[in-house]
Parts: sequence; C-alpha cells; structure tokens
Amino acid sequence: MADSKVIWMDGELVPFENASVHVLSHSLHYGSAAFEGIRAYKTHDGRTAIFRAREHYDRFLRSAAVFGGRIRFSAEDLIKATAAVIKGNDFDECYVRPIAYIGNETRGLKLPPDPAMSVAIATWKWGKYLGADSLSKGIKVHIASFRRPDPASSLPWAKLSGNYLNSIMARREATLNGKDEAILLDQQGFVAEGSGENIFVVRNGQIATPPLGAVLPGITRDCIFDMAKRLQLPIVERPITRNELYVADEVFFTGTAAEVTPIAEIDGYALAGGKPGVITRRFAEMYEKCTRGAAEGYSGWLTYV
Ligand code: PMP
Repeated sequence: MADSKVIWMDGELVPFENASVHVLSHSLHYGSAAFEGIRAYKTHDGRTAIFRAREHYDRFLRSAAVFGGRIRFSAEDLIKATAAVIKGNDFDECYVRPIAYIGNETRGLKLPPDPAMSVAIATWKWGKYLGADSLSKGIKVHIASFRRPDPASSLPWAKLSGNYLNSIMARREATLNGKDEAILLDQQGFVAEGSGENIFVVRNGQIATPPLGAVLPGITRDCIFDMAKRLQLPIVERPITRNELYVADEVFFTGTAAEVTPIAEIDGYALAGGKPGVITRRFAEMYEKCTRGAAEGYSGWLTYV
C-alpha cells in the first residue's frame, strides 16, 4: 500500500518502496518504539501548516527518553524534516507519523542504558478517524472490559508502541460489539480515556476531564483547556465515574486523529438527545478554525511548511 512518494529516514528522503527495516529489529519484537501522531492542515489562505509541531516533537523526545532511548535529532531538526517530507509528497494536508525505533543491533530484553534509536517520518492522507459523519452525527461507544494500565506498572505519558496493545484490544472489543470506539476505565474504576483519544464530559454547564494519572497528556486536550479559557467556559480536571457518563449532557473525545468527536451514545444510553451537544460543537468549530489558521490569537500553534 503506497500512500506517499517518500518517507524521511534518519536524515534522508527515501522512496516509499525502500523504506524498510530489518525483521529482527528490536522494536518489532518488543514494542520498544516511540511514535507520534501529528496533522498538517491546509490553512484558509491556501498554505500548509503543521499543527502544534513543537509540542508533538517535545512529547516524542520525552516518550523515547523515558526508557533511555537516544535520538540524535532535536525537535527543530524533526520539524524541518516533517516540512521536507510533506513537500516531498506534494501534500497540502496530511497525517504525520514520526517513529523512533531500535534496529537489529541488539537481541533480547537487556538494552544498553541509552540505546540509539533510528527515526522515520511518514505522511499519508487521513480523513475523519472515527468515520466520515462522526462530527455531524456523533459516535457510539461502550465501556471496554480492558482497563487502562496501572501507572505504577506502565508509562502512560509516553507514546510507546508496546503500550498500544491495550488500546488495540479495547478497540477490537468495541468493533466486535458493533461500536465505533471504546472508553477505558482506570484501575480504580474511574473513566480514563478512549483507545486513542482523551475524553471530556459536560454536565450542568461544567466541562470536566480525568486528571493526568493514567492518561496520555493529549495535545488536543491541552487545546480544549486553552479554548475553554478563551470562551470563558468553566473547565476542571477531576475523577469521573461511569455513572456520570450515563447522565452527562455531552461527552466528547479529543485527539490529533479524532480531532473533536461528539459521542452520541454510551453503552446504549443516548446523550444530548443522541446528537452532538452545543458545547461540543463550539469546541469542534473553534478547533477547526485554529487548525486552519482562521482563529485569532492562535497563530503560534501553526508551523508553515
Ligand atoms: N490518548 C491516547 C491513548 C492516544 O493515543 C492519543 C493520541 N495521541 C490521545 C489520547 C490524544 O492525544 P493527542 O491529542 O495529543 O493526539
């Protein structure tokens, strides 16, 4: 499946067909890879901009560093590389997937204290992650039987490939149950997040999201805090129960891939009359404006390529 012309690998643009790694790569066997999910958007004036590039690459470097991984590129280097690969593919907007991985130099679980990681940056066209009409209709979700791992035994702030088997299983279970996505609870039974999204609840005019214990510090989640302040809407981080989801006025997911996605139904309970809620729609519209360079005061979130 060739969905682009070139992929950036350790400093070079490589033809898509040649962008391969060895089958004995450590990261393939044990999940010892760090990755990111970024989007570049076509802005309202016809240019192309990477959305919150700096924050994504800072998190990327932290994800690798948390298990000792050594990346020889700085965030600035990687932003330039991203611009080069977007241009090399003639994309005006796309999804961007950086990945840092350990190759075939080492066997077994015992890694050097600071293993060198190779870096690749790929891009592809990706529409609405949770379906073409997810924004207009809202999605159907259920509470997964798989829980978000205990933060005492996992690295929940890092986008490490090995973490994602948990997400894959939760998403698989949702699909097998005819749902669009899963909500995972944490080890205490409080709401954590989606398989690849943070979650927000709106009830009695207050917006709430789980605190950053077991959940990924999402960059879109951070955008919601910023926009809520700007819109003068009350927002808090606090534990959320399953019970609260069932009686919420609105619930929505956020993520780079998912953007702002309304949830219309949870475990068969219809929310906001089974339609996207007013506050969710406000955030979705403002987020879209921010990504397109059409929101005043948000140009700092865009890196033009
Ligand atoms: N939680 C998980 C588990 C994720 O994989 C993602 C996607 N990166 C998110 C939340 C949302 O994070 P962001 O807004 O930074 O894309």
